[in-house]
Amino acid sequence: MTDIAETPDTVASRKTAAVSKCDLCGHEEQHALAAPSPARCRIVMCGHCGLFYASPSLAPDLLDKFYDEEFEGDAGTNKRLKGGGIEPRKVNIEERIARTWAMPLIQSHVDVRGKSVLDVRCRSGSLAAALTEAGAQVTAIDPLEPNVRYAEKRNVIGDVRFIPIENFERMDVFEDAQFDVITALSIHLLSHSPSPNRLLHRLRALLKPGGYLFLDEKDVFHPVRATGETVFDSGPAHFFHFTTDSMRNYFEACGLEILECGIDPKRKKSTRHIRSVVRRPANASNGSGTRPQACDRDKVIAALEQAEHKLMRNNGFNKFMKSARRTARKIWN
Ligand SMILES: [Zn+2]
Repeated sequence: MTDIAETPDTVASRKTAAVSKCDLCGHEEQHALAAPSPARCRIVMCGHCGLFYASPSLAPDLLDKFYDEEFEGDAGTNKRLKGGGIEPRKVNIEERIARTWAMPLIQSHVDVRGKSVLDVRCRSGSLAAALTEAGAQVTAIDPLEPNVRYAEKRNVIGDVRFIPIENFERMDVFEDAQFDVITALSIHLLSHSPSPNRLLHRLRALLKPGGYLFLDEKDVFHPVRATGETVFDSGPAHFFHFTTDSMRNYFEACGLEILECGIDPKRKKSTRHIRSVVRRPANASNGSGTRPQACDRDKVIAALEQAEHKLMRNNGFNKFMKSARRTARKIWN
């Protein structure tokens, strides 16, 4: 692992904020893993618990501007569709994933009929609509206005709300213990959050005792296709890069009971996905969990190097496929 020098406080000319402590365990020891580039912030590993995170990260006061001008992950983002609207092809993908993957997963743990459900980062509202059809009382929230407008136009979801990025971790419009179920399965939520610790504690507080939380995140140890030079090149909006171990650590630190946390057999895009089903314990009132244990650093680094090798193999394969297709076109044309 090469040592990467401290970098000035700009990432591809973006304003950044120093991150002095690990969000998960609070330790200050950081080991640099990747220098900043347009495809990522500078990435470090926590010297104690092994969490991968951006340091410095995008400045929090830049987030709204970033999602407005640069982010293109969602069907209605400005960069994707100039002048408003929403991209039907992307919505169709969300509909399919909601109905064939997310709903069966949710229903395998809880019957949502009559339950109060909060769908976080609802995007086009595909999952919120499917949950409503299954008999749930759904509140859907999103920080991107085109998503909120589109989800509202469906006229089936009981409550669709815009919550600005800066208020996303507080969610103070809701009351504690208001929801039976919280879903965040339409997009990876935690890696975009400046503090998964604060966000998970808030989601836990919003759940009734015994309530369920469903999450879908990307696994940085399992790249599927190359999107850049390193496994961290998934865009500067990713404050965190998770593994099943770091997800488990977070749940335990936030006092959430783990029912499922592992590689999903079906979901994969640029990486395999980690699907998690956790629960607010039925008879624990306070939000304290266990302190994250020290990780085996050599093991974490070895797994990271393996992931980088896999990425390079995939990268080589993709390049090979591209040139093969070009050759095939020449032959057949
Ligand atoms: Zn840590």
